[in-house]
Amino acid sequence: TYILGIETSCDETAASIVKNGTEIISNIVASQITSQKRFGGVVPEVASRHHVEQITIVIDEALTEAGLQPSDLDAVAVTEGPGLVGALLIGINAAKAFAFANGLPIIGVHHIAGHIYANQLMQKMEFPLLALIVSGGHTELILMDEHGSFNLIGETRDDAAGEAYDKVARVLGLPYPGGPGIDKLAAASDGEIEFPRAWLEKDSYDFSFSGLKSSVINYKHNLEQRGETVNPEHVASGFQSSIIDVLTTKSVRAAKEFGVKQVIAAGGVAANNGLRNSLEKEFKKLDIPFKVPPISLCTDNAAMIAAAGTSMFDAGVRGTLAMNGKPGMELMSWNK
Ligand code: ATP
Ligand code: FE
Ligand code: MG
Repeated sequence: TYILGIETSCDETAASIVKNGTEIISNIVASQITSQKRFGGVVPEVASRHHVEQITIVIDEALTEAGLQPSDLDAVAVTEGPGLVGALLIGINAAKAFAFANGLPIIGVHHIAGHIYANQLMQKMEFPLLALIVSGGHTELILMDEHGSFNLIGETRDDAAGEAYDKVARVLGLPYPGGPGIDKLAAASDGEIEFPRAWLEKDSYDFSFSGLKSSVINYKHNLEQRGETVNPEHVASGFQSSIIDVLTTKSVRAAKEFGVKQVIAAGGVAANNGLRNSLEKEFKKLDIPFKVPPISLCTDNAAMIAAAGTSMFDAGVRGTLAMNGKPGMELMSWNK
């Protein structure tokens, strides 16, 4: 099967063709990071306008690069939610038009299912599987017993990990998105400030990062009031250590408790080198296979949407041309 994936939930306009849910034939991503940088974050109106300008271009490019015609395709998979509603609608409307014009079925994909299925483009997923989702809007631990089955065992009670990265980066005067800049500073650092870790209740798999963010802000203000300067490397390193410590420790505990055969990381923050190294090291000790996609497949892309869409297609899931953007869409299993 050849599936065209389309993703426009946030600030990447992306289209991709994936074969059999595992092989990338083409993968086009038009990022708006340069223009969103000026605003220090994603401005919904700006995002929508970019998507309108880019969407047909990236879809055409995905076909051209693949050397395929629309008639070679089996379905169109598009991000249905969650995300910015105006942004989602541009991808969905493009998908509907394309599907209608070419007589193809349309499948609505949950963005986080996409992040998880980015792993399927690298290697076979083995179940039971634990997925650590760390992105701009989500921080979750999800247990999967088989394809299309999702059990949420923990999530953030306030900020997502990526959100914390972006806010702390702003405090440190780093450009948006903040993750890569903090990662670099932390790696170059020769010391670190100790910031708190929010473990929550003893048996909880939930997360909380807003306290950490506040303590970084307070630390900076206190120093500045005393007329001292902040060492950004030490702050970045301490902040990153706190996040990595909590994410790694909870993932390890969950992997042990549920006896999983594979652990995967997904989402933009899974591009973080410090986190990747920490998870790799700890799961190696436990002899549990740990996998994380290359950085380009951790951040938003359409190949992951096509991969998840293929699994849904194989399970018989089909959407309709009445599909709408779902900004607060919940991740539902499709295997039942
Ligand atoms: P969601 O997937 O939850 O809907 P999103 O699509 O906006 O949100 P992603 O694009 O998956 O999120 O990830 C973007 C986030 O990843 C940003 O917060 C960014 O700072 C973070 N990020 C990117 N690279 C790194 C890195 N190297 N280290 C840490 N964070 C990173
Ligand atoms: Fe994302
Ligand atoms: Mg993004």
